[in-house]
Amino acid sequence: MQKEQLLLIPGPTPVHPRILNALSLPTVSHVSPILVDELKEALDNLKKIVFCQDGEPFIVAGAGTLAMEMALLNTVNKGEKILVLSQGFFGQRMKEIAESFDLACDIIQSPWGKAVLPEELAEKIATEHYAAVLSTHVDTATGACAPVKDYAEILADFDSLYIIDGVCATGGIEERMDDWGVDVVLTAAQKCFGVPPGLAVLILSRKAMDKRQSMEAIPAYYADLMRWLPIMKDPSKYFSTPCVNEIRAFNEGTKIIFEEGMEERFRRHERVAKAIRAALRHLGFSFFTDEAFLADTLTVCYYPEGIDDQAFRTTYASNGVIVAGGLGEVAGKVFRMGHMGNLSVSQVQFAVAALESTLSTLGYSFDPHSGIHAARKILESPSS
Ligand code: PMP
Repeated sequence: MQKEQLLLIPGPTPVHPRILNALSLPTVSHVSPILVDELKEALDNLKKIVFCQDGEPFIVAGAGTLAMEMALLNTVNKGEKILVLSQGFFGQRMKEIAESFDLACDIIQSPWGKAVLPEELAEKIATEHYAAVLSTHVDTATGACAPVKDYAEILADFDSLYIIDGVCATGGIEERMDDWGVDVVLTAAQKCFGVPPGLAVLILSRKAMDKRQSMEAIPAYYADLMRWLPIMKDPSKYFSTPCVNEIRAFNEGTKIIFEEGMEERFRRHERVAKAIRAALRHLGFSFFTDEAFLADTLTVCYYPEGIDDQAFRTTYASNGVIVAGGLGEVAGKVFRMGHMGNLSVSQVQFAVAALESTLSTLGYSFDPHSGIHAARKILESPSS
């Protein structure tokens, strides 16, 4: 019999059966009343997820990288300069996108495992005018969560647009666009929403939309939000065929989020992260990410002495759990475990039990069940 495998890479994440069911419904016309209603509902829900009342949401076939490109091309004119706050891999990608379109770009790069400090932003922005400041919320290579709310407080005194890459955070870690003054959240379906990959997702504030409306032709066609705006306002119109089934699945994903409740969902992500880390600590693992910046959505973990990366991940997979290897300078020295989306308590407990079996198979000595007990204590504690 084929074994089920729990996908605990930092995205895509396990897909809830209700979302899979929505995905498998018969494909309907992209302008049918069914899809019109579902897309409208998904767009409304999306705004609520990022606490944005008066903005414009967009859901377009693509992935996170398309959302990054769309955010940039639709808010920054050639000749204007941007500032990227990079916590690692994906901030560098944002810089590459800017350079691909000849947009001037400054970058503050934090050491891997940490995040750019608010003071560094304050110092930089006092010296130069930036049309937009962009920050990755959680860097998926390093496991670092940036202090995006603190950045917002500094940016409140400047007219730069504030853009957050929420691909590894939105729907799992708080992002309050209106309260914090965020102008764009760009994200994707396959992480905290727990929906299969395939969607570029953006929400623009009124200020960001005003900027787009003031811009002349931009170097984009499919990625031009002004071509998509009429469709988002009235999904019975046509620009380019939307991915019908994926949109229905995404809508189901947003309903699951509200059934859980936003605040409880944030707390659950926090609780699950703490439980997994407690287990890992008891089993002798240490973390790549600086304690001050640990993200609730994934953990990047050094191996204890004597554990080989490839053997560990292959054995863990044969015990039912898939985790990802390290990127860049820490490849081979760390593994990355995603714990975001719609993970249940029993899935977390299964992952920890399978981790202990894996360590036993590899001949590593540890206090049996200590990881499981440590995780359970946190998962079962109502106040944690
Ligand atoms: N930003 C972040 C923070 C990400 O984690 C990712 C994907 N891992 C991306 C952008 C790019 O998204 P995609 O792979 O869907 O293009």
